[in-house]
Amino acid sequence: EPLVAMADVGKSYGNVHALRGVSLEVYPGEVTCVLGDNGAGKSTLIKIMAGLHEHSEGAFCVNGISRNLASPRAAQQLGIATVYQDLALAPLMSVWRNFFMGNEIRRGLFLDSATMRRIADEELQKMGIHIGDLDRPVGGLSGGQKQCIAIARAIYFGAKVIILDEPTAALGVRQSGVVLKYIAKARDAGLGVVFITHNPHHAYLVGNHFVVLKLGRVVLDAHRDEITLDE
Ligand code: ADP
Ligand code: ADP
Repeated sequence: EPLVAMADVGKSYGNVHALRGVSLEVYPGEVTCVLGDNGAGKSTLIKIMAGLHEHSEGAFCVNGISRNLASPRAAQQLGIATVYQDLALAPLMSVWRNFFMGNEIRRGLFLDSATMRRIADEELQKMGIHIGDLDRPVGGLSGGQKQCIAIARAIYFGAKVIILDEPTAALGVRQSGVVLKYIAKARDAGLGVVFITHNPHHAYLVGNHFVVLKLGRVVLDAHRDEITLDE
């Protein structure tokens, strides 16, 4: 059963139809890739899933329950986390402080610094992210490392579904590799991943399911086994 299911979802901004008749399901242990050029509706789709926008038509279900009112807080409580391109990391703060930032109070966690540092270290190690000194400011890390920290943080704080907004867009080949490997790891750990990207190669490397949007409509919807590299 899908974690998130959209059936025939439409979204209009005034008379602009940003999405029309979009159906999409996110399963645990799968990467659903959403591809499409600028204006295709990718951001709109993210905003609906993240609880920032209400859909105008169709049904949007989380864990089998229909959601009508948009609420970022509710989305978060249901385990839907979004990692935006700006990553919401504070560049001057240490890695371990960033790991907990925004969550200490919200989750009722009142941990001392040494404990937070130790947990961040354990979690990052567990997920195969090797940062070295966690007292370093996050701003000095590579783009790939930053992306992985933002994803690891979302997972640690209870995400079941992670929506990744063009996580490799600003990265080179090597750093993209770091992030893609990490996406595969999250997938194999049973998370439902929504991977928004312009890059079909990156999508193919980790994706189970591919949805291509064009001007708000789904123009291709294929599972991995339906795509062949022959011919
Ligand atoms: P993408 O992320 O794929 O570039 P968007 O979801 O941002 O696509 O946009 C889809 C369409 O909706 C575009 O035509 C865009 O101009 C329009 N759009 C997006 N946000 C708004 C808004 N807040 N108000 C009006 N039109 C919008
Ligand atoms: P809301 O009021 O629902 O939060 P906004 O209309 O403020 O949404 O727009 C949300 C985002 O979409 C903003 O980043 C805004 O700059 C962008 N946006 C607004 N209008 C358009 C448009 N016509 N095309 C693309 N993006 C848009």
